[in-house]
Amino acid sequence: MPDFVVVGGGIGGLVAARALAESGRSVVLVEATDHLGGTVARHTVGGIDLDAGAESFSTRGGIVAGLATALGLGAEIVEPNPAGAWLQSANGKANPLPELSLLGIPGSPLARDVTAIIGLRAGLRAQLEALVPSFYGEKADSLGELVRKRMGSAVLEQLVAPIVRGVHSADPMHLDIDRVAPGLRTALVRTGSLAHAVMDLRSDSARAGSAVAGIRGGINRLVVELEADLERFGVDVRLNQRVTSVEKGHVNVGRARIDGQVVLAAPGVLEPVEGRRVVLATLVVDEPRLDAAPRGTGMLVAAGAPGIRAKALTHSTAKWAWLAERAGGKHVLRLSYDDAGPELAETARQDASTLLGVDLRPEQVVDFARVEWTRPTPLTYSPDGISVVGETAAGTGLAAIVAQSTATTVRLLQQPGE
Ligand SMILES: Cc1cc2nc3c(=O)[nH]c(=O)nc-3n(C[C@H](O)[C@H](O)[C@H](O)COP(=O)(O)OP(=O)(O)OC[C@H]3O[C@@H](n4cnc5c(N)ncnc54)[C@H](O)[C@@H]3O)c2cc1C
Repeated sequence: MPDFVVVGGGIGGLVAARALAESGRSVVLVEATDHLGGTVARHTVGGIDLDAGAESFSTRGGIVAGLATALGLGAEIVEPNPAGAWLQSANGKANPLPELSLLGIPGSPLARDVTAIIGLRAGLRAQLEALVPSFYGEKADSLGELVRKRMGSAVLEQLVAPIVRGVHSADPMHLDIDRVAPGLRTALVRTGSLAHAVMDLRSDSARAGSAVAGIRGGINRLVVELEADLERFGVDVRLNQRVTSVEKGHVNVGRARIDGQVVLAAPGVLEPVEGRRVVLATLVVDEPRLDAAPRGTGMLVAAGAPGIRAKALTHSTAKWAWLAERAGGKHVLRLSYDDAGPELAETARQDASTLLGVDLRPEQVVDFARVEWTRPTPLTYSPDGISVVGETAAGTGLAAIVAQSTATTVRLLQQPGE
């Protein structure tokens, strides 16, 4: 009987299985599909190997960089083009995102790049929050509520909502502040203002370099190296086996049972997945006018922006120098949608043309790919005797998941009898 059964071979399960096996425990990893990685996936579009899911990671705490380094990828970590992204507002105008901001919350509400989006009056309203005692809004239930209370509806609706929609595929009124902006609440109390709190956190991340980073060749290289380590540490990886239920001390795959202490890294086993859908459209296009990166590294789109169905566009070849080299003069554009019909290739071409301000003709589209993901909602309870890792426990994003999965395995390895 193995010491541990890890259910799910996404980044959460892979990190847990590796850490447990590296410490000498016997581990079985059970994965429903025929490959590992989950949402950290790869596909080939127009002859170019690309990430089909996560394409960067937060540098917060050096967590993912630490993992990449341990996997031998330290020298392959790259920073994105500092040009940054733009915002397509509901009034149809495109502007660079405010430089000094955190999830759209401005560090300097009267800065020109803020008032260009929300107007001077809303900027003045937001500026007033510095005069309001820090306890006002500090206990807000959601990021949206905190922003609305302190800085007003314009900052919430015109800056924070579109950015959160593009980055977290969520409404800020449903987002836990401490999950998406760790340290923000404490910094608000310490500095006395939300704007100052943003500046405080921003200066921390500025000291640490860019807020996000990538890996030359794609984030999916993490999975390749994790898989190699599982083999090295003797993990028994079982693909194409869907776990149907888990109990304290064993998991069931249909009628078969695998005994061992359970580490659950797969959504949908304890509770049905009722998460949101994310549809990604990737276009490889041949258009030299895009060499100038007309909208920096891409665009976030406010709800209701006229004539556009995408919620975000990443100009991947403008964002990552290694990818521009590989694309040999072509451009990779990645658009995300909450939902999309069968005509997605055409919708994405039209959206990309509008967002980038460059008319992309059908014959300039070299290739197109569609990928669909369903993102899970957080687990609503802590199951007895089962350790849960991955997105349902840690929230979205590699940094949060790697940190929580590592902390969980440390705890498991320290428990009595281990
Ligand atoms: C389009 C998109 C882009 C993203 N971009 C970024 C980004 O740039 N940076 C970032 O940090 N994050 C990004 N994320 C989020 C990030 O990819 C995820 O939070 C993270 O990869 C989730 O990892 P996980 O291990 O929790 O789950 P998953 O990746 O969902 O893995 C779960 C695994 O469990 C398996 N499984 C499911 N059910 C069973 C079962 N019953 N039995 C056995 N196995 C099962 C699945 O097949 C899968 O392999 C993105 C997400 C999406 C959808």
